[in-house]
Amino acid sequence: MGERFIFTRYRTTCYHCGKDADQIIKAVRSQAQVVCDNCGATRIFVPRTLDVGAKGLYTRIGCYDLWELTAEAAPCRNCGVTGPHDLAIGCNHFTVRCQNCGYTHFFKFNLEYVGKCPIET
Ligand SMILES: [Zn+2]
Ligand SMILES: [Zn+2]
Repeated sequence: MGERFIFTRYRTTCYHCGKDADQIIKAVRSQAQVVCDNCGATRIFVPRTLDVGAKGLYTRIGCYDLWELTAEAAPCRNCGVTGPHDLAIGCNHFTVRCQNCGYTHFFKFNLEYVGKCPIET
């Protein structure tokens, strides 16, 4: 860890507390997480084997709205460019795609809890 990759936030209605609150989104190579700034509800995602060529699979709508965001200035480890990355976050998946080269990280939903986040990024 220690490598900061994605760090952004998205304001929406929290699925857990029902409040309009910032959802803090972080990702490193080994893990991704979404944390409600209001109630601390946390979802953890872990890396999944790359599905090369399975385009569209990762944009499938999950159990609630898919969030499509852009994170500014994230370092791509494939092309080496620090630039915008597309994020797609659903209830079962979390993907990060470099806008420069298209390199995509896939994460799948792993666990959920409410509380303090133990992960340092
Ligand atoms: Zn919440
Ligand atoms: Zn790239």
